[in-house]
Amino acid sequence: MTTKLGFVGLGIMGRPMALNLRKAGHALWVYGRRPETMKPLSEAGATACASPKEVAANADVVFVCVSDTPDVEQVILGDGGLLQGVRPGSVVVDMSTISPAATRRFAAELKKRGADMLDAPVSGGEVGAINATLSIMVGGRPEAFARVQPYFVAMGKNIVHVGDHGAGQVAKACNQVVVAVTIEAVAEALTFARKNGVDPAKVRDALMGGFAGSKILEVHGKRMLDNDFKPGFKVKLHQKDLKIVMDDAHKLGLALPGAALAAQHLNALMGAGDAELDSAAIVKVIERMSG
Ligand code: NAP
Repeated sequence: MTTKLGFVGLGIMGRPMALNLRKAGHALWVYGRRPETMKPLSEAGATACASPKEVAANADVVFVCVSDTPDVEQVILGDGGLLQGVRPGSVVVDMSTISPAATRRFAAELKKRGADMLDAPVSGGEVGAINATLSIMVGGRPEAFARVQPYFVAMGKNIVHVGDHGAGQVAKACNQVVVAVTIEAVAEALTFARKNGVDPAKVRDALMGGFAGSKILEVHGKRMLDNDFKPGFKVKLHQKDLKIVMDDAHKLGLALPGAALAAQHLNALMGAGDAELDSAAIVKVIERMSG
């Protein structure tokens, strides 16, 4: 019997990921909070649903990609949520970036209904979602991972089962620390070049081939040079991710000074009304500090 798939959350990431599942030929039930977001999926042959509950009632494996921890809570536990429609033996796969502790709580609630859960946050941005080249970091039972693996390969390339429930979200938090602190370093370096009267574009070219070369220097560095902060990955989402990191560090009594600084710069962008910009806009904070 063919496995029926579901997808809840059709934003920058969710829409292309769901479309890739359809392109791979899978039967798909979808829910987007704004009905118009379901149109491209309906046109691709997916069935539009009125609630996450309806998706769960039809699908054996339901993917979720919404914004933040309270959103996943609403989608799973809320009125009209997945828990109200889910059948024993189903798997809910949360691909949003949220709190590891909340993830373990949601997994426990689903288990009471005989359903399994995987946390499977992603890295690779909108381009990775469109090209099905995402890195996928998975937490949960190995049996559930094995069951969902054939669908992960329709959305990503580097797919790693990291550990038990929440381990995927911990890996993603680590990813966000590396990305944020590297954006800071690139922003400082390009500002340093400019203030010295040296062409920052040439500096970026020179750095690309050496130890300072990175995906962040390539992609975010280009955005900084072009002053093009169309997201990409929004400031408000990066701020949300570093809050997850800092909350956890607080609980553990763990000092993460680099991540803390990046979190403050993202706070500054939020206060300046730049929530919807790409998080490469951290360069704007660095520039403002030096006039
Ligand atoms: P987005 O474009 O803002 O999309 C979020 C989607 O979730 C929207 O369609 C939104 O619906 C829906 N949603 C939010 N809260 C909901 C709720 N309570 N109930 C139902 N639907 C809800 O964000 P995104 O960039 O796709 O990011 C999604 C997740 O992936 C986030 O956790 C983010 O951190 C993570 N992520 C993003 C990137 C990236 O580069 N963008 C990369 C890696 C991971 P509406 O349309 O009605 O607002």
